[in-house]
Amino acid sequence: PPPAEKYEYQAEVSRLMDLIVNSLYSNKEVFLRELISNASDALDKLRYLSVTDPQLLKDAVDLDIRIQTDKDNGIITITDSGIGMTRQELVDGLGTIAQSGTAKFLKAVKESKDAGTDNNLIGQFGVGFYSAFLVSDKVVVSTKSPKSDRQYIWEGEANVSSYTIREETNPENLIPRGTRLTLYLKRDDKGFAHPERIQKLVKNYSQFVSFPIYTWQEKGITKEVEVDEDPVEAKEADQDEKIEKKKKNTKKVVERFWDWELTNETQPIWLRNPKEVTTEEYNEFYKKTFNEYSDPLASSHFTTEGEVEFRSILYVPAVSPMGKDDIINPKTKNIRLYVKRVFISDDFDGELFPRYLSFVKGVVDSNDLPLNVSREILQESRIVRIMRKRLVRKAFDMILGISMSENKGDYETFWENFGRHLKMGCIEDRENHKRLAPLLRFFSSQSEDEMISLDEYVENMKPEQKDIYYIASDSVSSARNAPFLERLLEKDLEVLYLVDPIDEVAIQNLKSYKEKNFVDISKEDLDLGDKNEEKEKVTKEEFGKTCDWIKKRLGEKVAGVQISNRLSSSPCVLVSGKFGWSANMERLMKAQTV
Ligand code: ADP
Ligand code: MG
Repeated sequence: PPPAEKYEYQAEVSRLMDLIVNSLYSNKEVFLRELISNASDALDKLRYLSVTDPQLLKDAVDLDIRIQTDKDNGIITITDSGIGMTRQELVDGLGTIAQSGTAKFLKAVKESKDAGTDNNLIGQFGVGFYSAFLVSDKVVVSTKSPKSDRQYIWEGEANVSSYTIREETNPENLIPRGTRLTLYLKRDDKGFAHPERIQKLVKNYSQFVSFPIYTWQEKGITKEVEVDEDPVEAKEADQDEKIEKKKKNTKKVVERFWDWELTNETQPIWLRNPKEVTTEEYNEFYKKTFNEYSDPLASSHFTTEGEVEFRSILYVPAVSPMGKDDIINPKTKNIRLYVKRVFISDDFDGELFPRYLSFVKGVVDSNDLPLNVSREILQESRIVRIMRKRLVRKAFDMILGISMSENKGDYETFWENFGRHLKMGCIEDRENHKRLAPLLRFFSSQSEDEMISLDEYVENMKPEQKDIYYIASDSVSSARNAPFLERLLEKDLEVLYLVDPIDEVAIQNLKSYKEKNFVDISKEDLDLGDKNEEKEKVTKEEFGKTCDWIKKRLGEKVAGVQISNRLSSSPCVLVSGKFGWSANMERLMKAQTV
């Protein structure tokens, strides 16, 4: 056979390998994600080409990935039946760095080194094929492209600046098509060659790769085997006893053997046609993926095409796992981001959803993002901005769907769990006020037991009524007994009771709904449109001196004492200044500073 040829790595590759081998230790297990994603890419390429050239499939019809482990020797082999590589492609693919992602990675490494941190850069960026050297002393790649009739072996070692390529001559090692990677693990990393460990990693990182991934696993089947009878006993015994004996003389043994085991789900549920997926399947997937016990309140499965292509399934949980503080700082891991079906991270919720919607769970699978996508890339990406917009819109549609559900209890449950999040949204997300406002719910003077929507309020407005009235208080009962309410009740005007501390701020941010302003009935300039100037003048003259006297007695404690027509049975009321805090806000601010 022709001798092996020696090649030097491109300088960047040497630098990268050096980094990988000598300084990046955290999160080594991502090597498997990278190698599986390469195998999956190679299968994708072949699948794509075979659409127009079915001959390509003739040598091996099955498109799959097989991972075998030899735990005694610390060896992992990963075989795919994908497109393979020619000699030149080996040099180009495994000796040089073509993609800009890796260059970014090198830059980030330098920056983090300067800053003295190692913040899991490999996990964030992925360094492709070279991540094999995170765990291996030596890597051998044997590959056969359908474009060539020869199979080639690439061989590289950690800490060596060159690699070799030779032709495969051992007939035992020939493969019909595709690539076989053999990893000779470092002494400390031989644990990765444990079949169960590999199985777990495959499940974790590549459960939804669309090609089957098999791992080599030991199995057992239980068999009944006959144990030899004693011939003398058998002769003497009558028929019944013989049967009895026979039963006694069999025993169960477990036969052990090794076989391929399918380790991933080949058809991700989000790739299926929504019309063909049942609610039960969506719920199962939800519970399995997010370790939930109860079914979600709602789900939404959609595909977007055109400018940006992605698929997603979103869920609204039925229970809230979060405490109050978590609305401000959610560490949720609720959105699993996939790129071309390869799991990337569940750490990017913040890039894909505003934090007040952080309770939404789901998967997002993009075809337009690079596999080595990082938070930085996501934050800068125009694609992600479009995705985010669409995701948020879908989330609102889903919530609106719950609010219109026949089962009224569903929205009550939702509101109880996540109503506060939406109120946060009113404060943080001006752009979506139109979507948020119809989802809000409040008690009111005409509905003290059941919350109403703003639409219901507006429908119930008097013909001459221009504003939406509210009072902020700490409970329905104290709102009901507030003297401010008297005149409005008398006029049969409905008043919203804002009893959650955040309500008032949320409403103030909304300012109006359907062109009707929100008006705090406890503020001094409340105008119910029934001013009688003549009567007011008379009253002022009559009680002017009394007011002066009261102001004198109270001094600094009040800003002023005025005649007003806002009460009907109470003699007086304390109101807030037009530009000051409401009594409720004042109470809240006091509570905050304690
Ligand atoms: P990337 O996958 O981002 O291109 P990698 O470093 O992971 O970068 O891989 C480099 C190149 O090596 C790939 O682009 C591909 O051409 C080739 N390659 C790697 N693994 C395989 C494989 N299993 N089958 C065919 N080609 C492969
Ligand atoms: Mg890759």
